[in-house]
Order: sequence, then C-alpha cells, then structure tokens
Amino acid sequence: MNSIESIVDEIKAYDGPPLRFMEICGTHTYSILKYGIGDILPPNISLVSGPGCPVCVTPAGFVDYAAQLSLRKNSVLCTFGDMVRVPGHTTSLAKARASGGAVQIMYAPMDVIGWAENAPGMTFYIAAVGFETTLPIYALLLKEITVRKLRNIRFLTAMKALLPALYWICEKEPRMSGFIGPGHVSTIIGTAAYEPLRRKYGVPLAVAGFGFEHILAAIYDLMTQCRLGTHAVKNLYPNAVSHEGNAQANALIAEYFIKKPSLWRGLGQLDASGYFLAPSYEGFDAGDWMENTAAPEPSGCLCGSVIIGRASPPECALFGSACTPQEPVGPCMVSGEGACGIWYRSGAAKKEHL
Ligand code: SF4
Repeated sequence: MNSIESIVDEIKAYDGPPLRFMEICGTHTYSILKYGIGDILPPNISLVSGPGCPVCVTPAGFVDYAAQLSLRKNSVLCTFGDMVRVPGHTTSLAKARASGGAVQIMYAPMDVIGWAENAPGMTFYIAAVGFETTLPIYALLLKEITVRKLRNIRFLTAMKALLPALYWICEKEPRMSGFIGPGHVSTIIGTAAYEPLRRKYGVPLAVAGFGFEHILAAIYDLMTQCRLGTHAVKNLYPNAVSHEGNAQANALIAEYFIKKPSLWRGLGQLDASGYFLAPSYEGFDAGDWMENTAAPEPSGCLCGSVIIGRASPPECALFGSACTPQEPVGPCMVSGEGACGIWYRSGAAKKEHL
C-alpha cells in the first residue's frame, strides 16, 4: 500500500494530459478547502464542485412558495436553518418572518411531531429538501405521523435523487475526467448505483470519505485510472459504503416516496429526479411549488453554473462584493454545503487554482 507521502508525491508529479475531476458533495468541497488540497495539485489537475448541495440545487420558486405558506393564517413553515436566508425570486423565509410569517427552525424533522401535537389548530408545513441521505428521516417522520394519526402536518417536497444530475452533467457539459463520489449519499444508494453511469459515459468514479487522506486517495485513484484508460467505480469508503447500499433505508424510501420529474436550479427539469409523496400519502402534500417555474434566478448570480462545475465561485462578479455570507445573493453563498460560502470562508478565492 502506498504511503500518504508517496501519494502526494505522485499527484504532484503528474505531467499527463489535463484532468478535471468533480467533487459532487459540498462536504468534500469543504474538506478540499480546509486541507488545502488545491495547493498539492499540479497545474494540469483541477477540481470543480458539483450538484451535491441540496439547498443550492433548489430553485428560487420553492423559496417563494414556502414563504407564502409561512404567511398563511394558522400556519407554520418548518425548515432547517440554512434555508431561511436563501433568497427566492420575490422574497425569502427571513423576509417572510419579518413580515409576520411563522417560520420555525427544525433541528431534526421529528421536532415537528411535538409542535403539531401541541397545536392541533395549526398546520405545520415542512420544507423538505435533501438527497437520498435525508429521505429515510422524512420517511420515518411520515411513519410516525400516520401512527399518531396527526392531520396537521404537510410536506413541501423538493427532495432529489442525485444520479439524474450526474447523467445530465455527463450528457451536457464538457467531459469530466472523473468524479469523487459522495460519501453520504453513497451510504444509501451503494456503489452499484453508479455502474450504469460509468458504463454509459466511460468515466471513473471513486467514492470517498471526508478526511485529507480519503480525498487524496480518490484523486490518486482517478488520476491512475485516467492514466490506465480504465473507468471503474471504486469504493474508497468501505467502512460506511457498501456495494448494494442500505436496503432498510431504501425500503423505507420506496414505501413513502415515488420519483417524478423535478426542477433543479441550473439544470432545469430532469425526469425521475425528485422524490414526492407516494399516492397513499398524498394527503400530506403541501402543494406544487413547481407551478411557479417562471421565477428567475437572482440577477448576476452564477449559482446555476457553479452547481454544474461550469463556473467556480470567484468567476461570479458578485462573489465577495455584492454577495457575501452576511448579504447572500444566491444559495451557494448561504448553505454550509454551498461552494461559494465555502470558498469565501476559506479565503480560497485568493488562490490561483483549486
Ligand atoms: Fe450566486 Fe453569490 Fe455564488 Fe455569485 S457568489 S454564484 S451570486 S451565491
């Protein structure tokens, strides 16, 4: 087995054709910046961020719709904290709250059970955003809601399946040399889920954990595969990720959700890319936020391009000037998994390349 030092040396010494790898997951972007991995890479290996931040891929129309729900009489909009400051087209949850809307921060989705039981005259709308990692939690919440026969909870669902976004990127964007596969989503879907993608597009993928050595191992593996002309799916995070994925979690997802077309920021509508309530649970649905498809993205904001690796955060003219974590223009600056916020907080924009 290679030592970490020899891996670093081999990566630094790479002098082959230019390679461009996408780290799909925002937590990987965070680790890459945190550990200064960009400083290790030679000029002909570059990393770009991908569509793995669930808040970032959620279009502005969802935020507008959620804000409207918070302003309804006897209603409470429940959300994770990072969604509150995400700008919609016309408003944000923070602005709706300032105008009298009821916005309640969830620390865990199960929080809503107690709130709904204690206030049966109120309707609690859950802004349900996330990838496969979050879906089992919402499935368990639905299970609990039905067991307790609660009738005052609704789901505003913008949950996403990750793979359709990767197909879109492979189909529409300049070819990636390889993908650093997301550690968290892969615990649910398993490495087998990536096999059709790598067969169709001949692109290698290495699922990685979040430590310095995990990410370097993934870059090294992808670099080696590119040299050899192979395109395998590698599981470099076997402590957490299996080939088949988490069968129990997937059974829960299949019981409570079905896949339908869904809208993505930057990618548009993708077939079978959204998880919506299964027919037996449609009574818990909060309505169709996608009917507001005309809501444009904030003027000048490149989030739609950052999400698909077409632009890096400093390429946005607003980065660090009109758009900061304190005054965000787009979601990528707000979310803890958003590339712009991660770059800004790390000061990485000052560096020449990542
Ligand atoms: Fe959007 Fe701000 Fe990032 Fe520009 S810097 S892409 S406005 S989040």
